[in-house]
Amino acid sequence: MISKMNKSSKKVIQRRGLMLVLSSPSGAGKTTISRILLEREKELTLSISATTRKMRPGEVDGKDYYFVANKEFDEMVERGDMLEYATVFDNKYGTPREPVENGLCNSKDVLFDIDWQGTQQVAAKAASDIVRVFILPPSLKELERRLYARAQDSDDVVKERMAKAADEMSHWAEYDYIIINKDVEKSVADVQSILRSERLKRDRRPGLNDFVRGLREV
Ligand code: 5GP
Repeated sequence: MISKMNKSSKKVIQRRGLMLVLSSPSGAGKTTISRILLEREKELTLSISATTRKMRPGEVDGKDYYFVANKEFDEMVERGDMLEYATVFDNKYGTPREPVENGLCNSKDVLFDIDWQGTQQVAAKAASDIVRVFILPPSLKELERRLYARAQDSDDVVKERMAKAADEMSHWAEYDYIIINKDVEKSVADVQSILRSERLKRDRRPGLNDFVRGLREV
């Protein structure tokens, strides 16, 4: 289990990495927020998911996702290589376990762009390491506008995603922090504030014991 593995790690670490989960309905701005965050937060690394969905124009295999065939995905699940996995819009998505474990052991924070199903699974496995952020659009109308503006998906796909947005949003109360994404810059600043505070949490700083002991020695 990730949290146990990290706690018992022999390596002396100043801070335990945290798992920052961002969820939202498609089109709420999560991808843009993630991209800017990764540029600004050098201690943050992205968990690259595996998916069976088709690559969209502009996407890069190994950067946006690992695009895999159904069979390969199922084999990864069977081998226990996935930290979590779920079916979203008839495609399978999952988080490869190893890069996440490596990141956390090296005091990196790991960013997850996953849906509510995956969030529930990660929370069950690593409750003390996860920080859950849900991003809401300012309105349903704006969400629809953004999905059409993106124009990467067909009309039918946009309609289907709009229909599913309400379902995804119904899980907002399972998250620790809620951001209404009216303005990307402000939303990024809000996530950065969350990160800054969560990194200061006592439980994430095992190195503090020795530090405070040193302060008491005269
Ligand atoms: P998209 O196809 O638009 O890239 O992603 C569709 C949805 O799948 C998004 O809500 C995204 O957060 C979710 N998703 C992407 N990767 C994963 C993953 O590894 N696990 C889970 N559970 N959901 C994912």
